[in-house]
Amino acid sequence: MFPSPMELLRSHLSRVRIPEPTNRIYKSECCISFDTPRSEGGLYVDLSSFLTFGKECVGWNYEKTGNPVYLRIQQRPKPVPEDRPLKKPTLLAIGVDGGFDYQETNYEETHNIVILPDYASLPFPSVELPEKVRLAVDAILIAEGAERKEQLAAWTAEKKKVSAYVMNLQQINSGVVVPPSGWKCCKCDKTDNLWLNLTDGMILCGRRNWDGSGGNNHAIEHYNETVSSSRETWYHSC
Ligand SMILES: [Zn+2]
Repeated sequence: MFPSPMELLRSHLSRVRIPEPTNRIYKSECCISFDTPRSEGGLYVDLSSFLTFGKECVGWNYEKTGNPVYLRIQQRPKPVPEDRPLKKPTLLAIGVDGGFDYQETNYEETHNIVILPDYASLPFPSVELPEKVRLAVDAILIAEGAERKEQLAAWTAEKKKVSAYVMNLQQINSGVVVPPSGWKCCKCDKTDNLWLNLTDGMILCGRRNWDGSGGNNHAIEHYNETVSSSRETWYHSC
């Protein structure tokens, strides 16, 4: 007999965490792709790390971390009532009497607890769910997404600070032609996480991470070698 979704969930309870007020919760966009709760399949919030993944990326996160329990958030458009009269606009305005009929599509949000790797699913809310899971999900749903906080901070920042390096950017006519695509590190074979030096046109890879992933440090080495010649300004391509 295969375990039921509820049995699976109970067996993984130690992997579920209740977020604390200091935890950053990302719940409106996939960390890797551009998926949102309105994308097909919705978003999966990892109930251990509180990072969020679209349906194409959640399996990767499971393989990397082993975290099995997710909150799936899906938003689907609500059906529009058919008896809604369509009025012809008489004013070039939106949302006022006589103007264009402005109706934002309404979305209905649904929540499920999903357990990988089999995507066993339980509806949320549900009375049978363990207390710990209910508390974790409630905390996530009432939290303001970290993305939104960052956006708000960006909008309300008094004015964008312009880097002093950009104001004094010197560009060397080195004869280097930067191709519009097909970038590769000048010193190794990396083709992702690349940095373009805006002074001399060198394309080099990014920092090596603590776990050995990332680049081969070629951009930072170039910076250290040339730091006295004002090559501090880079464009980062993902
Ligand atoms: Zn490199």
